[in-house]
Amino acid sequence: MVSAGEAEHLEALGALAERWEREGAAPEAILRWVGERFGTDAVLACSFGAEDCALVDMIARVAPRIGIFYLDTGLLFEETLATRDRLQERYGIRPIAFRPELTVTQQAEAYGAALWARDPDQCCHMRKVLPLRAALAGRLCWITGLRRDQAPTRRSAPLIQWDAEHRLVKCNPLVRWTVDDVWGHIRQHNVPFNPMHERGFPSIGCWPCTRAVAPGEDPRAGRWAGTGKTECGLHLPAASAPGEVTR
Ligand code: SF4
Repeated sequence: MVSAGEAEHLEALGALAERWEREGAAPEAILRWVGERFGTDAVLACSFGAEDCALVDMIARVAPRIGIFYLDTGLLFEETLATRDRLQERYGIRPIAFRPELTVTQQAEAYGAALWARDPDQCCHMRKVLPLRAALAGRLCWITGLRRDQAPTRRSAPLIQWDAEHRLVKCNPLVRWTVDDVWGHIRQHNVPFNPMHERGFPSIGCWPCTRAVAPGEDPRAGRWAGTGKTECGLHLPAASAPGEVTR
């Protein structure tokens, strides 16, 4: 059931998304709007992948009041944390870490070793979904680096939407970009990026659930390979389209 307030949000955001699509609004223009509209109540959910590095660069230049956070699952690659450090140094940002309730060791004691290999949905729920919920609590807008051509589950992602799950605005400034657009921006602005991207890792998550992909393979084939899982649960299609609200 969509509340009256949510229906209003859906209508207004749907119109805005349509206008931005029609006008071909640039990601920087969208981020500037978000910064002016929401200020410090807007946050970028940053994984330190290529898309998010490009967004950090844009935010630093056009909307520096927007906050930045990341989900520190305790299972990130060293290269990912080093990328965080390089972005901090370059842009003077301080991304806030949100961590699961249990350390990796405590999780192994409570649920058995390598839960990710037996039940990745439960592992992602505890280590990503719940910390994301905490990171978004009290915020008005979250920004993601989603692109439509990353996965079939992301093909209909709008530029901006009402996120019924977290009850705030969700903005996806890069949805229309290709991977070449992302790398064009990174090269043009000399943005720090995760060197694993140059070693066959187009999509980088926790180390137990990420492998390199072969040339020509689906870019996200290296995530949860062999499990049938394709998303960690942070981006529900439910929030994607005006008029669609599911749980
Ligand atoms: S990506 Fe893998 S290790 Fe990370 S939280 Fe999800 S299941 Fe656990």
